[in-house]
Amino acid sequence: SIRPLVAGNWKMNGLSADLEELKAMATGFEEACGGAVDGLICTPATLIERAARTVEGQGLSVGGEDCHAKESGAHTGDVSAEMIADCGASHIIVGHSERRTDHGESSQTVAEKAKAVWRGGLVAIICVGETEAQRKAGETLEVLDEQIAGSVPGNATADNMVVAYEPVWAIGTGLTPTVDDVAEAHAHIRARLVERLGEHGEAVRILYGGSVKPSNAAELMAVDNVNGALIGGASLKAQDFLGIAATY
Ligand code: 13P
Repeated sequence: SIRPLVAGNWKMNGLSADLEELKAMATGFEEACGGAVDGLICTPATLIERAARTVEGQGLSVGGEDCHAKESGAHTGDVSAEMIADCGASHIIVGHSERRTDHGESSQTVAEKAKAVWRGGLVAIICVGETEAQRKAGETLEVLDEQIAGSVPGNATADNMVVAYEPVWAIGTGLTPTVDDVAEAHAHIRARLVERLGEHGEAVRILYGGSVKPSNAAELMAVDNVNGALIGGASLKAQDFLGIAATY
């Protein structure tokens, strides 16, 4: 069986004062989930180093939210995977829908960033998911096929990659797909990953993300092929994040 991962994505939220909240998450995590799951909080680049120090020695890791594809050079304002690794991170999210939308990132860019994450020695969390218009047009599974084919490099393994299914219309809206829709999307992603990666595809963690909160986590996390959560808003407060971890 696949060990679940409960991951937070702070997005563009968090100042040094919020490290107190992170500290409470780190100290409470193992007790909340009974040691049954891995925990991760991805923070803005400005906080990663202090966040890593804050959680050190406890059941929680720290990650980044994006990186540049190159290792170093003339790219003002960008941060490389090596720099994020140097801060003490273990994972980096790539291809979040907010990056795809705000920065026009294509699946090809996302694949390049995933390879950069591996070059830096870290685990890539690759995000996929359909928009509301795509779902209404019945294109969800097709969109997932395209995004997986384009964003997941052929040398991905169950150890260096996590996939996150995040329907764009469920992010920050309080809306979630039905458990049947989540099951269908995750089974489809699993099938594509097995086609592409064989045994590794069987073992890759597939997270669900989009309006996960303590009150709906148990139902969503129990769905077949859902191996954890990627949590936005509810990862900013220890009470919410630990409440989700406690559903395991
Ligand atoms: P919310 O949990 O705030 O809907 O955000 C989900 C998300 O985008 C995590 O990456």
